[in-house]
Amino acid sequence: MKQRPSFPARLGPKAEAPKLGAARAAPATGAAGMPRPQGFGMDSAAHRQRLVQLLQKQGVRDSAVLTAMGSVERHRFVDSALVNQAYEDTSLPIGLGQTISKPGVVSRMIELLLNGRTGKLGRVLEIGTGCGYQAAVLSLLAEEVYSIERLRGLHDKARENLRHFRLPNVHLLFGDGMVGFPHGAPYAAIIAAAGGEAVPQAWVDQLAVGGRLVAPVVRDGSQGGAQALLVLDKTSAGVRQTLLEAVHFVPLKSGIA
Ligand code: SAH
Repeated sequence: MKQRPSFPARLGPKAEAPKLGAARAAPATGAAGMPRPQGFGMDSAAHRQRLVQLLQKQGVRDSAVLTAMGSVERHRFVDSALVNQAYEDTSLPIGLGQTISKPGVVSRMIELLLNGRTGKLGRVLEIGTGCGYQAAVLSLLAEEVYSIERLRGLHDKARENLRHFRLPNVHLLFGDGMVGFPHGAPYAAIIAAAGGEAVPQAWVDQLAVGGRLVAPVVRDGSQGGAQALLVLDKTSAGVRQTLLEAVHFVPLKSGIA
């Protein structure tokens, strides 16, 4: 294999990966029998279960997706001032004008990616790491996750956030996701967390035959840049595209910053 300096970034040693939900469970009391501060003053497991129930009500059926959504501690991906909103179905600011995606949209898109399969996905490419939340969810449902972020500040933040979880199958890349990541191709699935006018050809090229891409795209002729969810299936006969419901994502931008 060719030498790739400094990336993809391994996030930690394989052997020690804790379960996402049960990561570093602290004893209830400290050395002097004092209650140990929980840092955010909430029982995150109960909040996560309520979130899963909400997602089920919204129509998410895939049990592996629901389990993954119930496992990842979303409060670890937002600023401390926002932790009490972390288990609401809402996007939240993560800095540099970007947002953590709504859990409802994350689960909907990943359910579309899985498309009813029972096993794990193979290699997945995510465009728009942001704070790393969706990459963590994907890590439970795919063999390998390659996640690209164009903003250095967020790439670093995601690395910091994900360090806690020690996910050896998540590879964080700093770069322009418009060109994909050819080294990891072909991908069983590609998922974008930012919406452009069209799906870059590089993504289609890097998708495996039999693979599926899910991305927000700006609807043709839309005035205010209204987006819809696009599902693209690559088959030996060509590419089939289906436009689904309206969504609202941050814009897909080219270049790095
Ligand atoms: N996946 C995140 C969502 C992050 S928001 C989550 O788990 O919630 C979308 C991200 O896409 C932003 O951080 C933005 O900087 C990034 N982005 C936009 N255009 C990009 C591009 N061309 N390449 C890589 N990242 C891009």
